[in-house]
Amino acid sequence: MNHITLGWHTQTVQETLAAQESSASQGLSGPEAVRRLAIVGLNQLTSVKRDSFWQEFLEELREPMVLLLLVTGGLYAVWGELSDALTIFGVILVLNTIEVINEQRSKKAIAGLHKLAEPTALVLRAGLLKETMVQQIVPGDVFRLEPGRRVPADGRLVEGFSLAVDESTLTGESLPVEKDAAAVLPAETALAERSCLVYSGTLVASGHGAAVAVATGAQSEIGRIAGLARQLKEPRTPLQKAMGELSGWLVWLALGFSVVVPVLGVVLAHRPLQEMLLTGLSLAFATIPEEMPIIISMALALGAARLAKRHAIVKRLKVVETLGSVTVIVTDKTGTLTENRMEVARLEPPEHEKQLLELGVLCNQAVPSGAEFVGDPLDAALLRAAGRSGLDPQVIRRQYPVQAEFSFDPFRKRASSVVRKDSRLWSVVKGAPESILARSAFAWQAGQRVALDEAGRAGWVERAAELAGQGLRVLALAEVELEIGAVSAEQAETDLTLAGLIGLADLPRPEARGAIAACQKAGIRVIMVTGDHPITARAIAGMIGLDSAAPLITGPELDRMSVAGLIETMPSTQIFARTSPEHKLRIVQALEGQGDRVAVTGDGINDAPALVAADIGIAMGETGSDVARESSDIVLADDNFNTIVAAVEEGRLLYENLKKGVRYYLACKVALVSATLLPVLLGAPVPFAPVQIILMELFMDLAATAAFVAEPAEVNLLDRPPRDPRARFMDGSMGRGIFSAALGLFAAVSSVYLVTWFSTANLAAAQTAAFGTWLLGHVLLAYNLRSETEPVFGKGRVLNRWMMGWGAATGAFLIVLAVAPPVQQLFKAAALPPATWGWMVLAAIAGTFWMEVWKWVRILTTKVGIR
Ligand code: ADP
Ligand code: MG
Repeated sequence: MNHITLGWHTQTVQETLAAQESSASQGLSGPEAVRRLAIVGLNQLTSVKRDSFWQEFLEELREPMVLLLLVTGGLYAVWGELSDALTIFGVILVLNTIEVINEQRSKKAIAGLHKLAEPTALVLRAGLLKETMVQQIVPGDVFRLEPGRRVPADGRLVEGFSLAVDESTLTGESLPVEKDAAAVLPAETALAERSCLVYSGTLVASGHGAAVAVATGAQSEIGRIAGLARQLKEPRTPLQKAMGELSGWLVWLALGFSVVVPVLGVVLAHRPLQEMLLTGLSLAFATIPEEMPIIISMALALGAARLAKRHAIVKRLKVVETLGSVTVIVTDKTGTLTENRMEVARLEPPEHEKQLLELGVLCNQAVPSGAEFVGDPLDAALLRAAGRSGLDPQVIRRQYPVQAEFSFDPFRKRASSVVRKDSRLWSVVKGAPESILARSAFAWQAGQRVALDEAGRAGWVERAAELAGQGLRVLALAEVELEIGAVSAEQAETDLTLAGLIGLADLPRPEARGAIAACQKAGIRVIMVTGDHPITARAIAGMIGLDSAAPLITGPELDRMSVAGLIETMPSTQIFARTSPEHKLRIVQALEGQGDRVAVTGDGINDAPALVAADIGIAMGETGSDVARESSDIVLADDNFNTIVAAVEEGRLLYENLKKGVRYYLACKVALVSATLLPVLLGAPVPFAPVQIILMELFMDLAATAAFVAEPAEVNLLDRPPRDPRARFMDGSMGRGIFSAALGLFAAVSSVYLVTWFSTANLAAAQTAAFGTWLLGHVLLAYNLRSETEPVFGKGRVLNRWMMGWGAATGAFLIVLAVAPPVQQLFKAAALPPATWGWMVLAAIAGTFWMEVWKWVRILTTKVGIR
């Protein structure tokens, strides 16, 4: 790992490998890579700063809410009630700890996601090619360069075939730059012209090759420009912003109210100033909805973590909110609906087997790694088939060294390799039958080269259709002999002689059928978009339960359609075939134009515009290009369509739970405000002592933040249509829900309190009654709000463990409060006669469970058919 001062472009491949103590065929050994990693550090430019628990704890302590509490505690201490002050400090401690734990859970979840979404590269270690985290690459590593992949480190080319790299991230030059492994350049060559080097962060546009890493991380050219340790910060989602704004508003309301109540308490109820000051401070603490944005971020972060467990890695948190409202999924076929484990199934004509497979080996970018082949699954299938027919791909490749390669792209729908033997040069071409036929002038027939006439072409088209009808992916193979010299793609793909067809089986994923059915039930339309033959597309569609008889639109047909025409046919079309990536963009735009919320999958470089345009861009994690991954919102770790459906389900659940959590949280705040306001208006004291208010807030937050987020789905969420994409989170029904829930709790607490106060004039007793009723009532309310339609203790409705733990803790506290005088003293409570407790329980049940009755009425009326 010596450093070369002149620059690596002045060195030959051999010199570079020697200097890096590496080998082109073996790469580094595992232990050596580990050793080097310890010396040079991770190959990365960004870093995520993680605060320790204590840092976070102190930060949380500086929050205005906690300061408010500290002031309250301080005042208590000053006014001589040390035990009160201690209680408050105890609450601060608990509250702060919970908040920090919550915060850290969210952050950990998000950091975990970033880790999962980190890019990989194909690296040669101890002779085996393996997908390796880009971070782990060290100088001396030999890595592969493939179209659509980012270069993972600065490297010196070891080999390159028609390699062109888009270096715009580094140099600003927008056209791909050609690379040449053989070049050895003078020291003064400008960065942009060092054709034997590739640079970290640039993008392989075409061709392929391998390079040995010479600089990583901050040592790389891009690292030197960018500087180290840019901080990653997740931008706030629309819902987070909206809730932030709303709570900003509510803060003023809560503050105003925290002034009004004490003032009224002094003026109307003639309470002492000191007491009312403490009451005002505690009320401010308890009513300001500062937790609301935290609930949202926690739900989103934990939702994203749950999605990751189901193999959907969320890259932008905002999509977690929108996932549940997806109305259309536009999906690729190959690899998403199918296994992408291709196998050669038919050779046409069969007697051309050897020739077809030989051509398939020569126009092929897959490389062996152990007993397997890595690269395009289609290419790997061709190599496997060649092996089964007794051909040795390695021998054939050595016989015909590759001189140039023109990689597959979804526009040309073909790929070609120019190979040499002795003094002759051939081009070998493979691709979609139409694409190859259009470039062919001859065909091999019984060992003869015959000119292709109209009838001959029609015959091939028919044979291709026949293979496609069996659901096979069809490739045509052809060749042409060239003059010695440099060739362009145009020359290499003209005047071809067709050798025949290869049909590759790519079976539908076994779970695809069920997933499609689930979508149909869930009111989500599935549209399949593929570059394959229309007949193949239909055949596969039929196998997975899409309507294979529905109208199908091909790419060329789509080109001729107007935007209006496209929108018109959209609702009846389920399959698009022979498309290229720009068609996907048009499909997405047409769908969004008619108000759909669209999730779209993509894997290629050219899929980026569609991925960006869609509401939710989904990239393939296994086969996707780095550009697709970068432009997407979600990466599918397993490329599986089923995972998209699972993600939509999670998205729906998350949204439901968020609504429930926020509804509960705000209902409690409204109930607290009205329950304290009414008595003072009637000339009675505030129904809760300040310490009680503080404890109430603690219990309330626990439920809203942890318990609702963890709720399981109440019904099969995929049984109903998606929510209206335009519907707002805080809508009328949400408002009604909040107020009706608040009303019950308020009524229960107020009636118990007022009756006790006016009949006994014993403040401690009346406040204890109100306090107890509140604690009980707010637990029952939470249980109740778990579902708008289902009874609390309905069939199969188990409480999640947070709800259960929280309810049990509240219950235990109430029992201790009822029987233990020291605790009563601590919380300004009095011992109450059992009858009063009985009334409290009844009031709490009546106040919150009337909604339960309502649910039963609705269930019964729908059962007997009254609506
Ligand atoms: P899909 O949308 O199903 O991934 P593609 O655009 O990748 O479809 O492929 C379209 C057609 O191009 C295939 O039916 C096949 O005939 C041809 N094709 C696909 N991959 C390659 C390749 N690596 N080399 C040559 N031809 C290919
Ligand atoms: Mg493809």
